Amino acid sequence: PGTLHVVATPIGHRDDIGARAIETLRRAKVIAAEDTRHTRPLLQHLGVDTPLVALHDHNERTAVDGLLERLRGGDDVALVSDAGTPLISDPGFRLVRAARAAGFRVSPVPGPSAVVAALSVAGLPSDRFIFEGFLPAKAGGRRSRLGELAGEARTLIFYESSHRILESLEDMRGAFGADREAVVARELTKMFETVLDGTLDDLVRQVAADPNQQKGEFVVMVAGREAGEDERLAEGLRVFAILKDELP
Ligand code: SAM
Repeated sequence: PGTLHVVATPIGHRDDIGARAIETLRRAKVIAAEDTRHTRPLLQHLGVDTPLVALHDHNERTAVDGLLERLRGGDDVALVSDAGTPLISDPGFRLVRAARAAGFRVSPVPGPSAVVAALSVAGLPSDRFIFEGFLPAKAGGRRSRLGELAGEARTLIFYESSHRILESLEDMRGAFGADREAVVARELTKMFETVLDGTLDDLVRQVAADPNQQKGEFVVMVAGREAGEDERLAEGLRVFAILKDELP
């Protein structure tokens, strides 16, 4: 049977792809891509002409059957997403799970992921961290999630898009306190890469004051609660977030 190779691709700079990733994409019989229109230019740049099939959140159930059939027939399949590592806030979970359940070899070709790239330059404690992916889009859901995290001692990492960066930072200031240390990593490896640090209050002000700082892709990292911080405040916020959902 074939192998499912889970291949990371660049998060910005198009040369951030290793020799083994390129070779794996070239040798695969088919590449399952989140958006074939997005992956095609990358393959062209790499000189790879392996055929593409779409595998996104809306067709993953049906596409998986076809790909399992290819693996069963002996074809190697490569899985990529639009940027970074598949499955990390990206499609691929159902395929990987189904391939493992069916007994196929699933093997990674590791490479960029925005969460690790951002943490590696943040200067926040990196020995223990939690990745929260995207916060809920609606203010109520976002605030209650942040309330649940107010007491977390590990460094917190969030993905954010340009639509909501300012609102999210404001809500983080509300949940974690104005003085909590944080870092906003924007457009990593791209032309307008910026890494801002300061208290959540500083960051809200800096981002609010400069519309350019609201554009692009962001990783927001917040220091965990320090042992010295007011524990009752964090606990109060957590309980409030839970109660708020229960109340009529
Ligand atoms: N699978 C990807 C990974 O491994 O990082 C993440 C895909 S997710 C749909 C896209 C989000 O990742 C963006 O909204 C942003 O939060 C983050 N991201 C991706 N590329 C980035 C970059 N170059 N700089 C900062 N954040 C980035």
